[in-house]
Amino acid sequence: MNEQILNQINDIFSKKRNIILIPHSSPDADALGSCLALYHFFKDKNDVNIISPNEYTDILNFLPGSENVIVYDNDKEKSEDVFKNADVIFTLDFNSLGRARNLSNLISSSSAKIIMIDHHENPDNYPNIMISDSKMSSTCEMVFDFINAIDNKKIDNDIATCLYTGIVADTGSFRFPSTTSKTLKVGSELINYGVNITEIFEKLYNNFQFKRLRLLGSTISNFKKIDGLPVLYTLISEEDQIKNDFKKGDSEGFVNFGLSVTGILCSVLFIEKKDEGIIKISFRSKGDFKVNIFASRYFSGGGHEHASGGVSKLSLIETEEKFIVDIKQYLKENYE
Ligand code: 5GP
Ligand code: MN
Repeated sequence: MNEQILNQINDIFSKKRNIILIPHSSPDADALGSCLALYHFFKDKNDVNIISPNEYTDILNFLPGSENVIVYDNDKEKSEDVFKNADVIFTLDFNSLGRARNLSNLISSSSAKIIMIDHHENPDNYPNIMISDSKMSSTCEMVFDFINAIDNKKIDNDIATCLYTGIVADTGSFRFPSTTSKTLKVGSELINYGVNITEIFEKLYNNFQFKRLRLLGSTISNFKKIDGLPVLYTLISEEDQIKNDFKKGDSEGFVNFGLSVTGILCSVLFIEKKDEGIIKISFRSKGDFKVNIFASRYFSGGGHEHASGGVSKLSLIETEEKFIVDIKQYLKENYE
């Protein structure tokens, strides 16, 4: 964070503020972890609320303070009241208002100062203060720097637990290429605040119902290869979800299995969401294969070079057919 931004931030928080912390819709550990870390950081001297656009996986309920998160979909009136009094809004782990889904209008029409902290590429120009760095492993790593720059004595076990969890989740436990020596240094510092790394691992990755394992099994057996291309994809239909008591977050990480196959550079997961009338798509890749451009060009999405998402309003089968045509075209144009 440069000195000018630090001065602006210190100026804003020189008196008591009404703060709203907002993660992207269907928040993951990085989005929710960064909100909760800032919640603990600011709550002694300010009025702080976290408003999530919608529900998130109950796996994340172990994060300290998560009982205070307001879910807009479940509590519209309270959320709108909170917006009326807001002085400062943080948008965390996203950089285009669309990713706040049904909260975007409340954010853009608010008179509050907007501060973005985010690590995705190509940020939109909506915030008053933009802290954006696509080289960072995670928003939680950036929030660590942010808190340290303002008051390095404030980090406690709760803040450290939230930040460590987000970093672990976004770096695949310090394995993805976004992991730098500084990321590891931040992880190491957080452990010094007493973070229980084994407990976090158990809560994040070994805390599922048996049916989720069955769903993983069927998703893996459904993987299909497109002839001649280094691409695997798989699908989860509405029926698969009903059969296996699907809950938000159950398919987290499934898409990565496609990349475990020798020679495969891109893996894709399609999930049918009948209630929203969409197919949600997850893209993962490695090496030179960049999925964010593909996701934005063909599936109204975006994200990181190696981890992106998008949506389709076609049926599951039509989406699959469209994808096969699009990916062939994309590879022909870009990699031949
Ligand atoms: P996931 O596959 O875990 O849902 O998303 C992976 C990454 O893709 C996210 O961290 C986010 O950067 C990006 N992403 C997911 N869905 C969308 C979307 O609908 N629009 C955009 N722009 N990015 C997305
Ligand atoms: Mn993130």
